[in-house]
Amino acid sequence: MVALSEEELGAARHRMVTEQLAPRGIKDARVLAAMERVPRHRFLPPEQWPVAYEDKPQPIGQGQTISQPYMVARMSELCALGGGERVLEIGAGSGYQTAVLAELVGGGEGKGEVWAVERLPALAERCEARMRELGYRNVKVAAFDGTLGWPEGAPWDAILCAAGAPRVPTLLLAQLAEGGRLIIPVGDREEQRLAVITRHGDEFETRWDTACRFVDLIGRYAWDGEEPVHN
Ligand code: SAH
Repeated sequence: MVALSEEELGAARHRMVTEQLAPRGIKDARVLAAMERVPRHRFLPPEQWPVAYEDKPQPIGQGQTISQPYMVARMSELCALGGGERVLEIGAGSGYQTAVLAELVGGGEGKGEVWAVERLPALAERCEARMRELGYRNVKVAAFDGTLGWPEGAPWDAILCAAGAPRVPTLLLAQLAEGGRLIIPVGDREEQRLAVITRHGDEFETRWDTACRFVDLIGRYAWDGEEPVHN
């Protein structure tokens, strides 16, 4: 296998933005710029670099996947970040979405932070190592069940959950700041739809965005009162 050069990988990344994200309706210029900057291939082993910028999820081991570029961009856009926010990510996996969020909350006064939780310790460790290598200082990574949220860092301006749940975990809603948004795939195992839930005082407004298919959210509160599910 001939190793791809940084130029070739950069060109593939540029095509991902111009041929997948923009035509499919991603409009937030800061999201498009972040997707153009974050080296997606670095979140995959070198054998997978040739396919890193394809229009699909890729395996990252432990039965998990790095999300499709479009889903990362769309979920980031739905977080509506202008810089300086505090964001919780549940299901950090490879850390690719984490890096995109870190770019979006960064800059300015440097107040913005991303706290990323991943239930599988091996993935969380790798995610943390990537953040260090790539110089993201406004990110904190930990390994535990994210259906509990992360109360120490709440209230959150946005919570992005990258795993699918049968319904909205209510514990997470309580950790949203006023005007804060929870973005989460909700549905059955085969298909979900992105829910965008915004807090207005004690009221929560739900909008439904694109259809999607994510790996399962596995945890104590994923199934709200039902028995925990393990796969
Ligand atoms: N954004 C990631 C997506 C990884 S797939 C990326 O692009 O790489 C979703 C991840 O959610 C998996 O790594 C899975 O282990 C994790 N996950 C599932 N349930 C979880 C929970 N309750 N708490 C934290 N992480 C969870």
